[in-house]
Amino acid sequence: MKFNTKLIHGGISEDQETGAVSIPIYRSSTFHQHKLGAEPKWEYARTGNPTRNALESLIADIEDGKRGFAFASGSAAIHAVFSLFSNGDHIIIGNDVYGGTFRLVNKVLKRFGLEFTVVDTRDLTAVKNAIQENTKAIYFETPTNPLLKITDIKAIADIAKDNNLKTIVDNTFATPYNQNPLTLGVDIVVHSATKYLGGHSDVVAGLAVTNDDEIADELAFLQNSIGSVLGPDDSWLLMRGIKTLGVRMRVHQENAQAVYDYLANNDKVAKIYYPGNPDSTGYEIAKKQMSGFGAMISFELQAGLDAKRFVESLNLIDLAESLGGIESLIEVPAVMTHSSIPREIRLKNGIKDELIRLSVGLEDESDLLNDLKQAFAKI
Ligand SMILES: *Cc1c(COP(=O)(O)O)cnc(C)c1O
Repeated sequence: MKFNTKLIHGGISEDQETGAVSIPIYRSSTFHQHKLGAEPKWEYARTGNPTRNALESLIADIEDGKRGFAFASGSAAIHAVFSLFSNGDHIIIGNDVYGGTFRLVNKVLKRFGLEFTVVDTRDLTAVKNAIQENTKAIYFETPTNPLLKITDIKAIADIAKDNNLKTIVDNTFATPYNQNPLTLGVDIVVHSATKYLGGHSDVVAGLAVTNDDEIADELAFLQNSIGSVLGPDDSWLLMRGIKTLGVRMRVHQENAQAVYDYLANNDKVAKIYYPGNPDSTGYEIAKKQMSGFGAMISFELQAGLDAKRFVESLNLIDLAESLGGIESLIEVPAVMTHSSIPREIRLKNGIKDELIRLSVGLEDESDLLNDLKQAFAKI
């Protein structure tokens, strides 16, 4: 099966009990056991629920993995994956990962004795130099948020294999439509399914996928032990969203290219971050490992122009956090999504006060461009 067919027919494409083509929402916390001690397929819904199970099979299929796991949020998925490691283990982590992942690492996991070194994973020498005796894994995102930096996935996975480390990639921004890290040698993929996979800004969910049986068994154990599972209603909603990922991504990306072309020829824009920008350092790697450039664009206004006035002047494009939904969303990372990072560190990482991040939605291209034009006219 090819990708778009898999989105519709992958995993468990119809209900095994009734043949319903839309997998029913099995809203039951426990299941009748016909014989005592016979190890039934379904026993208690934290351990396994047929609706969640259908979603988990689907994400495993579309990420080219063996097993998938659904969690109450992307953060919960990331927490479960880091729980594979133990007190005294060391993990190399990308320097531009999601703010909530840094918070989890610095304020929670370090208290349990996990050690981390933050590295720009685009720099392969820096990654190699960060490996210690107790290093167990390399964790990163590509493209990153909000600067859309591109890391060579296969190159990192090769370094990891040479050193007996696991590789973990947060594939939220690219989506499996554009990039399948497991096929490039990565061991575990995580997603905030709240974003493109759900796609309609109506569900918070997380997913993890692996193609390694041993890791899968451990993740199943952790998912059940920690218990941050996704409920059957949200599992259903997420499957419904995933079915249209292909058609949505196609239009997301067409619109993003049009917005990029407009911004690239705009005197009021000083700098644009977009993996499809041919002048960007990651362009060749992005072309190699992604089938499309995604629909996230960040840009800086010329010095002296008012970013606040610009984003507040938009009528159609929503000033809001989050991304990957059908509606276009715009935000100022320094004030919104990345405000918890101390300003000094933020500036050092290249996130200026006037940086604007745009998640390009599915509206008509001309309406999006007209909204941008009228907002630029006001600054
Ligand atoms: C939003 C996001 C997360 C966290 O996911 P939640 O579903 O909000 O918990 C993790 N990684 C990336 C790249 C994200 O954008």
